[in-house]
Amino acid sequence: MTTTKQKLSDQKGYVWCDGKLIDCQDANVHVLSHSLHYGSGVFEGVRAYKTKAGPAIFRLADHTRRLLNSAKVANISVSFDQEQLETAQLEVIMANKFDNAYIRPLIVLDDTALGIDTSNHGVQVFIAGFPWGAYLGEDGLEKGIKVGVSSYRRINPNSSMCHAKICGNYINSVLAKREAINNGFAEALLLDAEGYVAEGTGENIFLVRDNRLITPPAENILDGITRQTIITLARDQGIEVNICRISRDDLYAADEAFFTGTAAEVTPITVIDHRTIGDGKRGLVTKKLQDEYFACVYGRNVNYNHWLTWPQTQQKQLA
Ligand code: PMP
Repeated sequence: MTTTKQKLSDQKGYVWCDGKLIDCQDANVHVLSHSLHYGSGVFEGVRAYKTKAGPAIFRLADHTRRLLNSAKVANISVSFDQEQLETAQLEVIMANKFDNAYIRPLIVLDDTALGIDTSNHGVQVFIAGFPWGAYLGEDGLEKGIKVGVSSYRRINPNSSMCHAKICGNYINSVLAKREAINNGFAEALLLDAEGYVAEGTGENIFLVRDNRLITPPAENILDGITRQTIITLARDQGIEVNICRISRDDLYAADEAFFTGTAAEVTPITVIDHRTIGDGKRGLVTKKLQDEYFACVYGRNVNYNHWLTWPQTQQKQLA
């Protein structure tokens, strides 16, 4: 008996495609699309959360700005501006009646030609979405996850663009993730070309030492929007944040460690390379920042409501 696997494309609903909402099943690219072969597209990962006043997108303007900057860095001209793309993401939330959802804007080059040169390609802009729970598991959010230092080094500024979410960059993450899973870890941690701690495959890392946060500089990692959020929340709570290089021994000797990311949110790390971090449980500082983060994204902390965007109809109710 064959079992058919459920696919994301099976969901009933709409994808925004070049200015129009189309059926999810029709949101396709051609097999000869340039981006499919060479990774020449760019993308974002955004979340909407169910607040008391309806679904709101967290840091929509920042994600959209990073998407447009990624496109610019990758030499892709996009015919939609910041405002149009922000509105489009809100439309996807409304059309699909999402509350808690993950939104995936994706900009790809079409099948104009198959050589490497991208000068003449057409550009397609998609915004898809789907309900997505905790990326590293509900259990992971509470109990923490096991992480392995990868044998792969994080891409560096000598060979690619580290701050852009360019599709092709992600083979680095894909290889590291698969290696980690095969080795029995939930996630990989990549070092930079010089052997210092860089980031996870889709997350930034923080350590806690003597109640201070330590995180690597943004130079050759993706400067995560969740990373920036946690730095702000921590400082607002009077927690000192040191942005400095982290060696592998700092990692193992930390009191607490956690990953941040739009998908991963704030996920505690309790084991790295079979060494227990702190007492092997979600630490107190991690828990405090995790609680702050969720209060913020769910709109429960009014001090950070400026990071939330509600669709127009709800914006009116809020006023
Ligand atoms: N690093 C990498 C490599 C990522 O893909 C992501 C996810 N976008 C992050 C860090 C976290 O970034 P953000 O908090 O903006 O989602």
